[in-house]
Amino acid sequence: MRNVIIIGSGPAGYTAAIYLARAGNAPLLFEGLQPGGQLTTTTDVENFPGFPDGVGGPDLMEKMRQQAVRFGTECVPAAVTAVDFSHRPFRVTAGDRVEEAGAVIIATGATAKRLGLESERKLYGKGVSACATCDGFFFRNKDVAVVGGGDTAMEEAVFLTRFAKSVTIIHRRDELRASKFMQEKAKSNPKVRFLWNSVIEEVLGIEVGRVTGIRVKDIKAGTEQTVAMDGVFAAIGHEPNTELFRGQLDLDHQGYLIVRQHTFTSVDGVFACGDVQDPRYRQAISAAGSGCMAALDAQRHLAEQM
Ligand code: FAD
Ligand code: NAP
Repeated sequence: MRNVIIIGSGPAGYTAAIYLARAGNAPLLFEGLQPGGQLTTTTDVENFPGFPDGVGGPDLMEKMRQQAVRFGTECVPAAVTAVDFSHRPFRVTAGDRVEEAGAVIIATGATAKRLGLESERKLYGKGVSACATCDGFFFRNKDVAVVGGGDTAMEEAVFLTRFAKSVTIIHRRDELRASKFMQEKAKSNPKVRFLWNSVIEEVLGIEVGRVTGIRVKDIKAGTEQTVAMDGVFAAIGHEPNTELFRGQLDLDHQGYLIVRQHTFTSVDGVFACGDVQDPRYRQAISAAGSGCMAALDAQRHLAEQM
């Protein structure tokens, strides 16, 4: 039986592993289908402290992995397929491998919803993004589009006006889902304009390797237009990776793990950290910080069990 099993290899999972391994707990960490997590899909990370010149996302994650392994973390390149938190020891299954542990840390992250366009996929990271805080800086004096009508879309749009020349919010209806306060913030910003009842049919620029425009359809009028654009931000929501835990742990209405007292889930001995329990911040540094917190909570829990 293991002391601790960590599920997930993003900033949250690796940070938890570094702390637990360094304290002599030799954690077992399941990396999942995306070893290194979301940051492996981006190029420059410029807001992670300690890297004044920025750092490549995959490079940063490889460094975190090495640091976790150096202190004795065992990394398994497999996805967890089932968990049983109904009795102790907790049981974690990955295919035909079954492991047991006194504590489990969940760090399975969240996935930004995509528009589902082939052109979006090809230009992801080349002008298409799902994170204004991460990538807004690269769009100084540029024209950008934000897709969505919720609070995130309004927040991202207003944030982007700090850099961009213009921000066009593209929403599929003529009514926003966002709170009144956020709507007013966006509507009163002179750099923000709206394209109502509209959906992006295609992101343009594949042939030059960067976003140059969008083909937009007015779904009420049935008309199409091409608009020059340097960036497209999809702000249509996130999907927390919690399917595995449904029915065993408390989830909120969006499917995020509910934590109480910082990192404790609804089952004593099971902890959560990073984006999987955080619909608000969704940043690498906040994920890493909560990974540290989950490790310390798990350590205390194990000590109390002895
Ligand atoms: P994730 O990084 O999402 O990692 C989740 C991990 O869980 C993965 O390793 C996955 O394989 C694993 N997993 C999932 N299911 C299972 C399973 N069943 N079994 C085992 N493992 C599983 N943040 C910043 O601070 N700065 C930036 O510049 C920045 N840029 C970004 C650019 C892009 C394109 C994206 C998508 C995000 C960016 N972010 C940035 C956000 C940042 O990446 C996330 O906030 C952070 O990665 C969350 O870390 P996490 O450890 O919670 O989860
Ligand atoms: P959300 O409220 O679910 O809104 C998603 C938006 O994207 C909706 O307007 C939806 O359109 C649109 N959308 C969904 N799928 C689409 C698709 N395939 N193509 C085009 N448009 C699509 O998500 P969110 O804005 O990320 O907010 C999530 C939660 O966090 C909310 O509870 C929100 O209040 C909260 N939040 C709060 C703040 C804040 O208070 N400052 C900031 C951010 C988030 P429809 O409206 O037509 O469904």
